[in-house]
Amino acid sequence: MRIPMIAGNWKMNTTVGEAVTLVRSMLSGLEKMNGVDRVVCPPFISLAAVKDLLKGSSVKLGAQNIFYEEKGAYTGEISPLMLAELCEYVIIGHSERRQYFGETGDMIDKKIKAALNVELKPILCIGEKLEENEQGKTQEVLTHQLTASSDRGYYVGGLVIAYEPVWAIGTGRSASGSEANETIGFIRQLVSHQHGSDIADNVRILYGGSVTAENIAEFIRQPEIDGALVGGASLKAEDFLSITKQTAEIRGLS
Ligand code: PEP
Repeated sequence: MRIPMIAGNWKMNTTVGEAVTLVRSMLSGLEKMNGVDRVVCPPFISLAAVKDLLKGSSVKLGAQNIFYEEKGAYTGEISPLMLAELCEYVIIGHSERRQYFGETGDMIDKKIKAALNVELKPILCIGEKLEENEQGKTQEVLTHQLTASSDRGYYVGGLVIAYEPVWAIGTGRSASGSEANETIGFIRQLVSHQHGSDIADNVRILYGGSVTAENIAEFIRQPEIDGALVGGASLKAEDFLSITKQTAEIRGLS
């Protein structure tokens, strides 16, 4: 059985003090929802402080990005070894990184390898842009993105996929539950073609894109969807708790 996951991508929000306050306000509520993997991904600068708060907790910590070199003259970058001391998960290939920072399939693949080398579990984001969706190219784009980062070992190492249609991120316009279910079913088939049904049946595939406390149920009721990568709504303790609680309830875990 695939354990559902709710991961909060805080993006470039919260100072260290705000991050600590936010985690404090959610922690006891999150602790109660054990059947769901709960992950918070604050900015790099807050990881150490949040890690201290999560000591002894079942809530997990993730980073939002990684660089693929181990160390050296890469001013401003954060290496896999640095993150491995702090986190269990790392978001890789978010569409904002592809769009604003020029990340390519090749770079994303190197990042996944680098993360797995230090036993960090990647949350690989894939998704089509609005015009690609409108031109009926969704499956082609997803196939291309997934094939660029495809190795059986990645899945064995704990890779999680997040299907995030770019047109749904931060726009308030989410996909419908059935649309997301269909596309995630397609991604699972693709994984099955590439690596076999044992891998495909076990990989967790999340939906991301304007998930809220109001619409999470629509996604979690779908059989192919194993949880959500949540941006904006993960910054509000009450909403993130509600999203996690509904996930546990719908999956019969609470
Ligand atoms: C995201 O950042 O991955 C995301 C899905 O953002 P939002 O929930 O705000 O659309």
